[in-house]
This record gives sequence, C-alpha cells and structure tokens, in this order.
Amino acid sequence: MEPNLLKSIQSTVESSKEELANLLQRLIRIRSYSGEEKEIVEHILDTMQYYGFDEQYSDGLGNAVGRIGDGPVTILYDAHIDTVQVTDEESWVYPPFEGRIVDGTIYGRGAVDEKSAMAGFLMAGKVLKALHPEGGLPFSIYMVGSVMEEDCDGYPLRHLIEQEGLRPDYVLLGEPTDLRVFRGQRGRMEMEIITTGKSAHGAHNRQGINAIYKMNPLVRAIEKLDRCLAAVQPLGRGSITVSDIRSRGPSLCSVPDHCRIHIDRRLTVGETREIALAQLEEIVQKNGGDAMITVPEFAGTSWKTTKFSQEAYFPTWIMEEEHPLVQAGLETARMVLGRKARSGFWSFSTNGVATAGRHDLPTIGFAPGKEELAHSSREEIVLSDLIKATEFYALFPFVLT
Ligand SMILES: [Zn+2]
Repeated sequence: MEPNLLKSIQSTVESSKEELANLLQRLIRIRSYSGEEKEIVEHILDTMQYYGFDEQYSDGLGNAVGRIGDGPVTILYDAHIDTVQVTDEESWVYPPFEGRIVDGTIYGRGAVDEKSAMAGFLMAGKVLKALHPEGGLPFSIYMVGSVMEEDCDGYPLRHLIEQEGLRPDYVLLGEPTDLRVFRGQRGRMEMEIITTGKSAHGAHNRQGINAIYKMNPLVRAIEKLDRCLAAVQPLGRGSITVSDIRSRGPSLCSVPDHCRIHIDRRLTVGETREIALAQLEEIVQKNGGDAMITVPEFAGTSWKTTKFSQEAYFPTWIMEEEHPLVQAGLETARMVLGRKARSGFWSFSTNGVATAGRHDLPTIGFAPGKEELAHSSREEIVLSDLIKATEFYALFPFVLT
C-alpha cells in the first residue's frame, strides 16, 4: 500500500463532504419503496457515469450495478436502496423524504437503512477514480444498489450470483453497524401448519371435526418449544413465534374444517431448515400426526417487471474473527477511526443470507448508523460518521488486497 494513501483518501473525502451530504440528501428525497426503485436506480447509474465508473448498468432484476477497476480480486459492495414504507408521518420530527440536516445530522427514511452506505460507495468510487485516473487497480469493485431486499432479503444478490454469473471473492454489506465490523447474523424462516377437520352445522357440532381444536395443542407445544430453545454463542438463542392464525368453514355458524398458522422462526448457530422442520414434525407426530407442515414461497415482481419467487428460508451465517476479510475490515476501521475497532453481529437479517448463507462467499458489513433506528421514524445519520465510512470504503480494497 502506498505510504500516504490514507492521508490522500482522507483529504479528498474531507474536501468533498458537502457533496457527500448532498448525495445522501438526494437519495433520501427519491422515494424508493420495494418494487418501486426505478427512479433511484436511474439516479445512481447517472451518478456512477458522472463519476467516471468503468461500467454501470441495471441487471435483469433491476439492481443498480457499477464497476471500478479491472484487477483480478473481485469485491462486491452491496447497499440495498429500497426502504420500508412511511406509515406514521406524524411521528417524524422532520419530513421523512426531505433529508433535512440539523447540527451535522441528517434525517429521513432510508438514512440508516441504508442509503448512507450507497452515498458512501458512490463517493468512494469517485475518490478511487481520482487516485488512479490511469486505472491499474489491483481489484475490481462492483458497487451494487440492490432492490427488493426489504421484501425478500438475499434474493437480489442471489439473482446477481445465480442469474447474472457474478461471483465475487469478497462481499461488504452496507447495513448499519455503527462503524463496527459485523460478521454474521441469525437466520430466519417461515413455516405454516394446516389442520383439516370436517365441517358440520353448528347446531349439530358433534357430527363435525373442529380444525381449530386440532390446532390448539400444536400452538401450545410451539409456545413451549420457544422456551426450550437454548442460546448458542455468539448469536444467542433462536426463537419461534406463531404470528398468524386463520380458519375456514362453511359459515360462522359451522364447525370449521380448515385451520392454518403462520410461524416466524429465528435461527441461531447450528439451526438449519431441516432441524427447524424436524422439531415441528415431532410436535405434529405427538399430536395425532395428520397436520401438514410447509415452508411458504415468497413471490415478488421487481420494478423491471421481473417475476421471482423463493422459499422463505434465510440461512444463519457467521465469519470467524480470524478470517482475512474480517481482519482486513478491522484493520481498515482502525486506520480510519484512529482507534481499535470492534466486531459484532446484526440482530436483523441482511443480504448476507445469500452471499455467505447460501453461497459461502466471505462477507462482512461496515456502515454508519444504529441498527435499532432502522424501520423507525427516528432514522438519522451523523454526517461525520458517514465521512468515516466513506474513507473506509475507499481504503478497504487496498488493505484487503
Ligand atoms: Zn437494510
């Protein structure tokens, strides 16, 4: 690494800090709910072109993809650019799509989750181009603004890997880490159980078999299972929650012949799809054995009208602290922050379920912002943290390679 690299990155980012804040402001002002990302994708691609990226395009799903460098080591930087909706505008202190800056902090939907990372990536791309105008970088960075993540975490990067053939050596996620290096998360899955009975008139109820009564012991057993799930470090315990229940019969004056529950399952270290299903199978067998268990499919349509579906299973993943990618992340963070950096884990789910969980690609995360503010009316980013993250994004590939 060139001796003055950190200094020149820091001075370039510092002199562009107003532009960086404007970049984020613009991204916040473009509303981009899942499935409605066309305008923000076009804006990002225009910005990449303006900053002299080597290539920029939207892929078949609709992700914004830009490349800098053509060296042999490929690194994927991912920031999903869709956001959850604003349903409580009255509880926001500042208008959610204004991107207002007050005392060095920027407010708005997506500020934390996770448009700040995208703004940082774009500015880092500009800095890399300024440092190496002739090219010759030892790496290729693909900067991705992924779509539909809030609806189906992982799918946008699965698309990029499985349909578009991009297989990076390393992945960096821009989900909020509050400037720590995150290296894993609990997984999750959804399951459904259906019980079937026999309908009958309510006045002759004993001629029927009530599907709700058949479900009742299963619900109790699931509640009990949740209390028995043990903590496994470093991710803690998994969980199981019955999140919905529906029944169906000929009328409200009849014995229902159909009952369905929806289950949210969080998966810790060592808990896989098969283990979670086997636990439910055991509960079903102990209670008559004729209920049906399924893993639902998520089906969606992107802004490019590309249809997709995937099973609602998002595997747990974890990277060892000693892994060279984690170590490069910690070293880069130490350099830009000027202090020892810490590692950690997300509580929520990220696109890492696809890169690390399904495809075994080394993955970490680094970004400004507090995870607990995501999806809330209190999303805010301290601009000096965004500056630090941007320096990280520009420096990291040199430390890694
Ligand atoms: Zn996110």
